[in-house]
Amino acid sequence: MKKDVSVVIPLYNEEESLVELCTWISQVMDEHDLRYEVLLVDDGSRDRSWQVVQEIAQTNPNVLGLKLNRNYGKSAALQTGFEQAQGDVVITMDADLQDSPDEIPELYSMIQEQGYDLVSGWKKKRYDPISKTIPSKLFNAVTRLLSGVKLHDFNCGLKSYRREVVKNIEVYGEMHRYIPMIAARNGYTRIGEKVVQHQERKYGVTKFGLERFIFGFLDLLSINFVSRFKKRPMHFFGTLGTLSFLFGLIVTIWLIVDKIYRIHNQLIVREVTEQPLFYLALVALVVGVQLFLAGFLGEMVAIHSGKKNDYLIAEKTQQLESKMV
Ligand code: UDP
Ligand code: MG
Repeated sequence: MKKDVSVVIPLYNEEESLVELCTWISQVMDEHDLRYEVLLVDDGSRDRSWQVVQEIAQTNPNVLGLKLNRNYGKSAALQTGFEQAQGDVVITMDADLQDSPDEIPELYSMIQEQGYDLVSGWKKKRYDPISKTIPSKLFNAVTRLLSGVKLHDFNCGLKSYRREVVKNIEVYGEMHRYIPMIAARNGYTRIGEKVVQHQERKYGVTKFGLERFIFGFLDLLSINFVSRFKKRPMHFFGTLGTLSFLFGLIVTIWLIVDKIYRIHNQLIVREVTEQPLFYLALVALVVGVQLFLAGFLGEMVAIHSGKKNDYLIAEKTQQLESKMV
């Protein structure tokens, strides 16, 4: 049956909040007459989350559960949900009740009626510790600058997408923080923003520590780099390599010409090994060739590159099992 909305929820050790969350979502959907599915993606939880998911799925046919065979991270969990989602609009939210299901109808209509490709939540008033809010401001400023996408809160878990968008992007590593940027790079530039309510975490603890800053930053570099040179690594490495090689070549020629001239005119002649310029030229030539080779190898890899994610779905709840293969 056709669905208006797919709600994708990545979860890792969130046993306490799932029932409350799903009940709340169904209430909102029923009130607004929306046909929906909830995709609960268990990202290898170690607590009772999967049992709870199965129980909910048994009582509510709109709730579908997926369990990954280990913890892959939020990005992979989202990607799994994206691949399964069938609704016209796909909404993502965190499982910890920090995001409110009451925002769903508005996020849905911004896509369907106002024509946005993606609408990102903006936790204007946040209920998180200061150790998180200040780095987050910095993160948002840098991402805004690099991506050209004017959002205040890139990493908000609550977002809605036109289905086409999630089917055409690929999120891996820690890239869930940059989905608006990835979408924009893929041509989905109608990106909107909606101020959303934010709650303090009710149960459990945050799943992200300090490493998020390092990994997040590296992923930002990758996205920038990969989206520009994925299909043509030679443009990057080849350009640098050629420049370096040319520099080395010109210097070498200069050294030879200079020497011949000096011998010819019986001027003082220095050994080539006594000249710093010689070593510089040598390094430039070698580095140039190496960069060029890297570009060439990259080019061959790019031709055969497949998917980046390597997750395995370990289990599905019954309805999902019978519906798809
Ligand atoms: N999450 C996940 N896999 C992970 C880490 C987190 O699926 O490896 C989920 C988590 O269960 C939650 C959402 O991602 O639903 C956001 O995580 P969290 O609330 O810990 O992040 P924070 O709000 O502290 O940024
Ligand atoms: Mg949270």
